Amino acid sequence: MIRTARLVTRPARYLAGLVLPHQCVLCRRFADSTGLCGKCWGGLSPIAAPICSHCGLPLGHTLAEPICAACWMDPPPLAMIRGCLHYNDVSRKLILAFKHGDGLQLTPFLTSLMARDFVMMTGDENSLVVPVPLHRQRYSRRRYNQSAKLARRLCHITGRGSLATDILVRHRATASQGGLSRRQRHRNLSKAFSIDNAAGRRLAGRPVVLVDDVMTTGATLFAAAKCLSAAGSGPVSALVVARVARPREP
Ligand SMILES: [Zn+2]
Ligand SMILES: [Zn+2]
Repeated sequence: MIRTARLVTRPARYLAGLVLPHQCVLCRRFADSTGLCGKCWGGLSPIAAPICSHCGLPLGHTLAEPICAACWMDPPPLAMIRGCLHYNDVSRKLILAFKHGDGLQLTPFLTSLMARDFVMMTGDENSLVVPVPLHRQRYSRRRYNQSAKLARRLCHITGRGSLATDILVRHRATASQGGLSRRQRHRNLSKAFSIDNAAGRRLAGRPVVLVDDVMTTGATLFAAAKCLSAAGSGPVSALVVARVARPREP
């Protein structure tokens, strides 16, 4: 049965989608065309205004100058960070389904959440859109880079930014950051990225929008941004689907 399902071709799956009801990717109840049922939809928690204009984290009050205390004291090495959803149980399952469960049918839904911020962040027509790369071992295991799928579709549906999947190169798989101190994490990541010699020539002075699925401590995005800036890019921003919305560590 499972083997038969795997043999179903893409056109056949498309036709099946027209006549059969959609199933929620998280709980298998009936879903709408986004791939989620009403209950799972309700479990998502969008990050809403007021937010810090710099790091994008929720603020307790609306301030005349909307900057959080952490950014005031110690700005992150990114011109701007935006996330669409709080990283909770439902968004975690959603991201896991997207990147480990062959859940590429979620790409239109996830990018529809990101599109408004993406348009705002790619106002400069020279903007480069750089998905956070996977280490090649992980890439060969997963067969696709979920961040590149998001970045490609964002460029496609908005007509903004130039997709650049070849500029940033990842040398280390850095999943096991848990349990490390902030200093250890930064050391672990300091040589995780480099710039491709040939593709990097397109970088000079151009604003960059990094695209990733999740931001937890920010260490990966900070390391990528530092690498791009050191190679001569313009300001680097980051856009993610979901993020842990707790204040940055001091
Ligand atoms: Zn559901
Ligand atoms: Zn902030």
